Amino acid sequence: MIIKLWGVRGSLPTPVSADYIEKKLLKALMLARPGDISSEESIQSFIRSLPFSVKSTYGGNTTCIQVTTGGGDLIILDCGSGLKQLGNQLMKGDFGKGKGFASVFLTHTHWDHIQGIPFFVPFYIKGNRFNFYSAFPDLKKRLDLQQVATHFPVTFDYLQATKEFITLEPEEELYLNDTRIANKVMPHPGGAYGFRIEDRGRTLVYTSDCEFNINEIDNIDNYRSFFMDADVAIFDTQYTFDEAISKLEFGHSSAAIAIDIASMFNIKRLLLFHHEPNYDDDKLQDVLLNARTYQGMNPKRASLNVDIASEGMEIEL
Ligand SMILES: [Zn+2]
Ligand SMILES: [Zn+2]
Repeated sequence: MIIKLWGVRGSLPTPVSADYIEKKLLKALMLARPGDISSEESIQSFIRSLPFSVKSTYGGNTTCIQVTTGGGDLIILDCGSGLKQLGNQLMKGDFGKGKGFASVFLTHTHWDHIQGIPFFVPFYIKGNRFNFYSAFPDLKKRLDLQQVATHFPVTFDYLQATKEFITLEPEEELYLNDTRIANKVMPHPGGAYGFRIEDRGRTLVYTSDCEFNINEIDNIDNYRSFFMDADVAIFDTQYTFDEAISKLEFGHSSAAIAIDIASMFNIKRLLLFHHEPNYDDDKLQDVLLNARTYQGMNPKRASLNVDIASEGMEIEL
């Protein structure tokens, strides 16, 4: 399967400010030696050599992930503001002709997971088909509420694509052709569900949003079959360790606890995800470095690859 991240931010879309771009440019130019900027090729090579937080950005769009299965089926995980860019991309293919089909899985309906829906152009095209999967039986009503006339000029029903709603039983597993998808209730205010996707012997686990804290870790064995042996886990790690302690019951985890869980269940690659909107790229780079330091403190975690989600990242499993 191919996984593409279109939105990795939590809670609120977070554009990069003009001041911050200026700061990045200043930092880059301060690092340059005369030979680095003597030709277009040398400038390109210099840019490639810069730290990620200087030359790029982890991204400001809220949660949206595209999964293309080995059989070519399209799965969309969450519909945050990143969904808009995915829609623009999809319009270049079958969805632009009203012949597209996708399965949409929603973890829950907090704004940062549904706010891209009114701006997703393929929904406006008659003939496109979407199956919405969620464990919330009133999902359609929740999406209607996002687009009532006092809040948005176009209702959800106005969107011309065919939309089907399939209610999942908690912990149910289902098959989309050869792809197995299981859901799991996650600890989060108002409820949320994680998804485990198994396709041609490879496994992706997506848990946004979730709060694994000191208390929940006592129940961690309940999550064994959900997390076990995943190739990639995209994990809500919005808080630093200190914040996670001071924000108990806020609904999000820290990188440290995600690393513990990933090591416990033999997960191969952990992607820190659902980034805090108050964190800029420098801070997120620190979060990653601290996470890797924590991982390195225990040799039992040596096989785990700790990485951080960034907008546009593509992973082939
Ligand atoms: Zn969220
Ligand atoms: Zn939430």
